[in-house]
Amino acid sequence: MNAADSAEMLLHLAARGCAQTEDLDTADIVLLNTCTVRDHAEHRALSFLGRLAKWKAAKEGRVIIFAGCAAQRLGKSVRRKFPQADIIAGAKNIDGFAEIIDNSRLFAPAGAQSGQEQSGLIGLVNITRGCGFKCAYCIVPYVRGEAHSLPPEIIFKETRRKLDGGAAEIMLLGQVVNGYNYKGLNFSGLLKELIQLPQLKRLRWMSPHPAFIDEEFAQTIALSQKLSRHMHLPVQSGSSKVLQEMKRGYTREIFLEKIKLLDQAGVRVSTDIIVGYPTETQKDFEDTLSLLDAVPFTGAYCFKFSPRALTPAAALPPIPEEVVEKRLDILLNKVKQSSKAAYARQTGSVQPVLFETPQNGRTLTNFWVRTTRKYKIGEITDIEIKEAKETILLG
Ligand code: SAH
Ligand code: SF4
Repeated sequence: MNAADSAEMLLHLAARGCAQTEDLDTADIVLLNTCTVRDHAEHRALSFLGRLAKWKAAKEGRVIIFAGCAAQRLGKSVRRKFPQADIIAGAKNIDGFAEIIDNSRLFAPAGAQSGQEQSGLIGLVNITRGCGFKCAYCIVPYVRGEAHSLPPEIIFKETRRKLDGGAAEIMLLGQVVNGYNYKGLNFSGLLKELIQLPQLKRLRWMSPHPAFIDEEFAQTIALSQKLSRHMHLPVQSGSSKVLQEMKRGYTREIFLEKIKLLDQAGVRVSTDIIVGYPTETQKDFEDTLSLLDAVPFTGAYCFKFSPRALTPAAALPPIPEEVVEKRLDILLNKVKQSSKAAYARQTGSVQPVLFETPQNGRTLTNFWVRTTRKYKIGEITDIEIKEAKETILLG
């Protein structure tokens, strides 16, 4: 989502005559787009901003834009503590970014044409903004605001622009991407319309929420080989008690039913897990471990619980750090085994691979493949999987 937001902000900068560079020495402007989901991410952004003071002082006229979720949360105090930040543009203001930079008077006026964006092979398209849930640990609704779905005309325009700019695959984005609903057009309905676009080779989405996985969705998936057979579906915990305390809106049993539905539709699933939620007992943790036995996840990101300001969970007494560390260690080991087994199961299969480099691409189920022969970038070719390494298939 941040990558998509960055691309959007870069387009506005490009319209004002800026060209992109990754090289700090030659840059005149730094656009720092931030995340505040966990304390660690925010901390890294702030320490980078601190280091930029020297960069700014080294040459007259250098500009720093501090943007995104941490900017939303910390705007005023950043202004006070980091005077080097010229512009602060919070995540809620992404639609108003052009106005913010114009008001700063640090940029030339926008030209009539911003030119065709070079999308790269995967085009990121936002379809919802904000979040309508209030999971007890999560700061996202506070920094990204209320949920709303973008009108299909805008989504189609963006998608076409990315496809014209060279994208073969489109990744639809939203905090609860499959909760999309614009005047009765739901997520399945939107997918059905988007797959009609002839230039589109693959359609993926992130992040879906278990609450919106239903029969209609499973039937929609079956309609087209353009539709991803992989989903990153965060579960957070394997304990129904913890899930309820987290206010996730489903139990372990309901999650397992959704997984069954997806499995029947041929969809492979990876997930996010939070370890050390304040009320997580040893028994709850074991429930999470046993969920990994019950569901053949292809991978999982595991996060230590990070107390975030404004969220109810931040007020709960934390569990000791050494307990959390130990649980994380055990969990990571288990995830590694589960992922290794998922890769191993692919050996011997033939799968359509979309090539992102001449010898690397992804299966429709989102496994990364390396081939001995070279193929055309952006094309889909059936590849026989000969061998599975821990995080890559050889074809
Ligand atoms: N909207 C997505 C998740 C967005 S945040 C969803 O609901 O599935 C991305 C991930 O960060 C979450 O899935 C969660 O695992 C993790 N996360 C969010 N808040 C956290 C916190 N306070 N501490 C640790 N991990 C957190
Ligand atoms: Fe955060 Fe929950 Fe919204 Fe995901 S659904 S962004 S975890 S509040």
